[in-house]
Amino acid sequence: MKFDVMTLFPEMIEDYCSHSIMKRALDNEIFSVNTINPRDYTLDKHRKVDDTPYGGGAGMVLMAQPYVDAYEAVQKVESSVTIMLSPQGEPLNDNIVNELAKFEQVILMCGHYEGFDERIRDIIKPREISLGDFVLTGGELPALCLIDAVSRKIEGTLGKIESADEDSFSNGLLEYPHYTKPREYRGLAVPEVLLNGNHKEINEFRLQKSLERTKLKRPDLYEKWRKISS
Ligand code: SAM
Repeated sequence: MKFDVMTLFPEMIEDYCSHSIMKRALDNEIFSVNTINPRDYTLDKHRKVDDTPYGGGAGMVLMAQPYVDAYEAVQKVESSVTIMLSPQGEPLNDNIVNELAKFEQVILMCGHYEGFDERIRDIIKPREISLGDFVLTGGELPALCLIDAVSRKIEGTLGKIESADEDSFSNGLLEYPHYTKPREYRGLAVPEVLLNGNHKEINEFRLQKSLERTKLKRPDLYEKWRKISS
């Protein structure tokens, strides 16, 4: 799996990828992250990537030429998907993450300022994905969220102890509560069932807690799960 990230701020992507689980996975060549800077594809001596909007208004708009030329220079593989990070896209969720993890190449287009000249959308026709109904200053954080979430689904990224199999959403529910040492903290004890080594009972307890907290915190997910499992 290869992530190609189109960004005016490649250091933001590189910096995040040089820590913790991401760094380990990249060092082990489980997947790769490559950046492409549209500024390198400008044709004028000032390396201009944005300009004022036709029709007036605040902010600067990303120009089509550097972005489209940069996109066309990315070497595509057969199993490739192009994603534009945009507050106007479909909201990212675990199903989309699973879907993207099946591709060999994910090309991510990060906007900035007021966003993209519309002709970038018209020409490239990307799938648009949003992190939620709020507006960020740039697409780098959403791109990193997507890379992080998708890479967790690729075999080899997580060690066994960090396995994604039981994480929230993987079975349609929120995950059960976790506890670690000490056995008691500020008068709060670890539930007895987790200490007895009986895995059947532990699994039952965890499923029960998972159901309780999903019903409480995400009744929408709980209803969906109930319908599917009845
Ligand atoms: N003017 C645009 C609008 O109202 O739809 C917002 C542009 S935003 C300030 C600049 C860039 O940040 C966008 O092009 C996009 O790449 C990224 N961005 C901002 N909010 C986002 C979100 N919720 N999800 C994904 N990307 C987002």
